[in-house]
Amino acid sequence: MSSVRVFRRLLGVEHTVVEGVELVKDDKRGEEVIVAAVRPAASHALRCSSCRRRSPYRDAGDGRRRWRTVDLGTVQAFLEADAPRVTCPEHGVIVAAVPWARAKARHTLAFEDTCAWLAAHSAMTVVSALLRVSWRTVAAIVTRVVADLSGNNDRLDGLTRIGIDEIAHRKGHRYLTVIVDHATGRLVWAAPGRDTDTLLRFFDDLGPQRSKALTHVSADGAEWIHNAVKERAPQALICLDAFHVVQWATKALDEVRRGMWNKLRWQGKHGQASSLKGTRWALLKNIQDLTGEQKTTMASIAVTNKGLYRAYLLKEQLRYVFEAKGERGRQLLAPSLSGCTETPRSPGSTPCRA
Ligand SMILES: [Zn+2]
Repeated sequence: MSSVRVFRRLLGVEHTVVEGVELVKDDKRGEEVIVAAVRPAASHALRCSSCRRRSPYRDAGDGRRRWRTVDLGTVQAFLEADAPRVTCPEHGVIVAAVPWARAKARHTLAFEDTCAWLAAHSAMTVVSALLRVSWRTVAAIVTRVVADLSGNNDRLDGLTRIGIDEIAHRKGHRYLTVIVDHATGRLVWAAPGRDTDTLLRFFDDLGPQRSKALTHVSADGAEWIHNAVKERAPQALICLDAFHVVQWATKALDEVRRGMWNKLRWQGKHGQASSLKGTRWALLKNIQDLTGEQKTTMASIAVTNKGLYRAYLLKEQLRYVFEAKGERGRQLLAPSLSGCTETPRSPGSTPCRA
């Protein structure tokens, strides 16, 4: 691969000519940053940024400008290009579209999609720290990505494995339902709300034909997601997020522990009950993370409290199933479920079809 193509991939741009890449001192940031000089490929140059129609050159506009893109390693990276204006028959004098960024955005598509995807999976403050942007910028990007996606169905083409998730924003008072394409990692659809009706609108946009092409849908255990998927894409395998499954097992384990604690107190065995109370953190931890003292605690639980110890082992084995994966994971899962009469309960969970 030529170095230009390598950089095109690294910078996350398409239909773009990379003219040169250099490391320059950024006075505002007080550190060195990577700046790639780029221009749109001929087929994507001089188009209206509103309708993408090819339009005649008007003037140089505000001259050269920069767009922040995804970091290269730990170094911040920017694209730099001319930003000429064109005269669109419909939209008048307007800044020309660039293939690497949305209209009026100061970040590239790759950066904004990364940001929106992260926002769907972690707290705004985490995204803001990780990407080194203000949380206001994160919020503005999510809004722009959602607006862009709401009128655009192209990204729904060729979907087979998708993830359905929800983002809380406005301090948890508002929710967005977001759909991620697992093949590309890109956000492909989003809408306000988190209920079956919202998700049914996604399937309306997708249409029956493309819904039929879905093979896997990953989601947390929320019932509203499962209902919509079962109705519109019954052939798709619903895959539960490993994180949530282990979380339910951990909750179930905590219920077992609390049940035993209550029973011991009821039987007047206060000494044993209070020692059980101190075991909570050891039980919730993963085996390899236990401290020496906690290992001793577990050893004594294994002797004195076999039921609780079994629940702990079931939780640990379930966690290991996801680490081992593949055929080995399947083998591990089979005996533990058949030997366990009480599978982890969760609000509205549906077992995964295997
Ligand atoms: Zn136009």
